[in-house]
Amino acid sequence: MPRKILVTSALPYANGAIHLGHLVEYIQTDIWVRFQKMAGNECWYVCADDTHGTPIMLRAEKEGITPEQLIARVHGEHARDFSGFLVAFDNYHTTHSQETRDCANDIYLKLRAAGLIETRTIEQYFDPVKQLFLPDRFIKGECPKCNAKDQYGDNCEVCGAAYAPTDLINPYSAVSGAKPELRSSEHYFFKLSDPRCEAFLRQYTSRDNGVLQPEAANKMQEWLGAPGENKLTDWDISRDAPYFGFEIPDAPGKYFYVWLDAPIGYMGSFKNLCGKQGLDFDEFWKPDAQTELYHFIGKDILYFHALFWPAELAHAGYRTPTKIFAHGFLTVDGAKMSKSRGTFITAESFLSTGLNPEWLRYYYAAKLSASMEDIDLNLDDFVARVNSDLVGKYVNIASRSAGFIAKRFNGQLAPADENLPALKAIQDAAGRIGELYEAREFAKAMREIMLLTDAANQYVDSVKPWELAKQEGKEVELHAACSNALNLFRLLTVLLKPILPVVAGKVEKFMNIAPLAWSDSQSLLAAGHAINAYEHLMTRVDPKLIEKLVEANRESLAPAPEAQSPQRHAEHQQKEIKPEVAGNLCTIDDFMKVDLRIARIANAEHVEGADKLVRLTLDVGEEKTRNVFAGIKAAYDPAQLVGRLTVMVANLAPRKMKFGLSEGMVLAASDTDGKTPGIFLLAPDAGAQPGMRVK
Ligand SMILES: [Zn+2]
Repeated sequence: MPRKILVTSALPYANGAIHLGHLVEYIQTDIWVRFQKMAGNECWYVCADDTHGTPIMLRAEKEGITPEQLIARVHGEHARDFSGFLVAFDNYHTTHSQETRDCANDIYLKLRAAGLIETRTIEQYFDPVKQLFLPDRFIKGECPKCNAKDQYGDNCEVCGAAYAPTDLINPYSAVSGAKPELRSSEHYFFKLSDPRCEAFLRQYTSRDNGVLQPEAANKMQEWLGAPGENKLTDWDISRDAPYFGFEIPDAPGKYFYVWLDAPIGYMGSFKNLCGKQGLDFDEFWKPDAQTELYHFIGKDILYFHALFWPAELAHAGYRTPTKIFAHGFLTVDGAKMSKSRGTFITAESFLSTGLNPEWLRYYYAAKLSASMEDIDLNLDDFVARVNSDLVGKYVNIASRSAGFIAKRFNGQLAPADENLPALKAIQDAAGRIGELYEAREFAKAMREIMLLTDAANQYVDSVKPWELAKQEGKEVELHAACSNALNLFRLLTVLLKPILPVVAGKVEKFMNIAPLAWSDSQSLLAAGHAINAYEHLMTRVDPKLIEKLVEANRESLAPAPEAQSPQRHAEHQQKEIKPEVAGNLCTIDDFMKVDLRIARIANAEHVEGADKLVRLTLDVGEEKTRNVFAGIKAAYDPAQLVGRLTVMVANLAPRKMKFGLSEGMVLAASDTDGKTPGIFLLAPDAGAQPGMRVK
């Protein structure tokens, strides 16, 4: 009986680009799902953009667009990046959907009926300028422990201390720079500390229950406290308007906190898929479901997925996850990804630099295990391993034998030698390798597959088709050698197909065979089977491409800072809105160092591939015009700008950007008071001429 399986990856937040750190999870999940499908199971893989919350609202405001416009654009970018890395969701939805709203309301109302929702008045920091309650990450100040300046409201990045925002010394709003005020407001809480939740979670998250990895189960016991000592605290699930999200039923002006509807987005996406595919939603979500449900997540969001989420489901009349698979973070060259080193690599830049996504899929697979340990992308090792394993070992088997079959034997294969040890070894190992895929021990699986590939190459080296081809009367031997080699290659392709779907597709085409399933690892091609012309399968990684990739990521910073945070799920927080700097004096000499000039905008045009930039050609009274990229696209149509006068910094060091050299900067005002969103280009009074100095 095929198993029926529903699989999810964590929902990426809709305010930043997908990067190689995110891809660890999506590639890991995709490999697992592809394996399940090859094994003949009914397996559905759903995901969605996580679209709600204050960061989305503020980001949209900053760009001068609506949150709906922002999340629609980011959805397109995310879907493009995932498909570029061959992550094959059965559905990629959005949490800003009717299905998710319906599921969120349903779960909330059932929890309320069960007596697990209560309201409480709490005090929170409020930004009097922006008229908004501030999430912890939007409040900064001095660390109460070590006095480091500019630390976030939840923890200190210098000394690591965790605290409440109200503990910060001299707090300020990271949005407006204003001093926040404490205000009280009514909030809705999910009563996680209720004895029913505690009893359920003690059982559900126990090591014996096997839902969690052992190290995760241990963590849960810490969070739960020793038996008799309930350390669970109630969870604040509401936020006050203004908020981008779903309004809570019967609670005007109160919204579900983004983390409430994010996991519910798994259900919403699946419900949407049910509508498209005619699937039975209840079969996968009713309490006694015989189907399986797996969540792949990063270890940083274990708390949400192993405590809140199952407790909600269990008490709202739904099934709970079969297993939760947490993975570690990605480091690049042994360190946290870094924009200044060029190792904060976006998915888009990887592909546009011309790197093959299957190289990365293989490299990640070769590193991934079932544990929560971090994995390292060592860029030199990446080049060496892909070139050695995939090109030098695997592809080499086909490229050394397929040509002779086509040229000398009319494309037809001789019978394979069933007793060939290298062939039998693969057939014997397939079951074990399947178990390793199932257990997410991909690195172990890759090691086994590469040992089998070595054995296959040893066979080819021992029979030397290229020498047989030169000798008279060796046709039978040559035919047998190449046919055996191609059978070996086909079996290895079965084992690698979850990792290399595009290569496997090309192999199926040139070998003239139906899409390979896992069970094909036990069969051989029949004598007389005709193959098609060999098609080039994979090139070597050119180390120059890696240099190019790192360069592209080092220099792709646009003038307006992108709101991307360095680690995956920190996206709910927004780090890069800079506060207003007050009381920071500069001398007249300092000021005079800046050469401000009147500039005439001789031309203005869109920059292909840039979301925010306009390319300006500026006349500043010099012989040559200046090329300047300005982050003003959200506010200005280039056509409106041509002919206008503005003010530019003429002695700014030229800056090489992704789209070309920028030779200066134009001046514009923007909203630090929060009342008027937008960007306002400066203009001189009538009569000013290009090149005049401003001082
Ligand atoms: Zn500190």
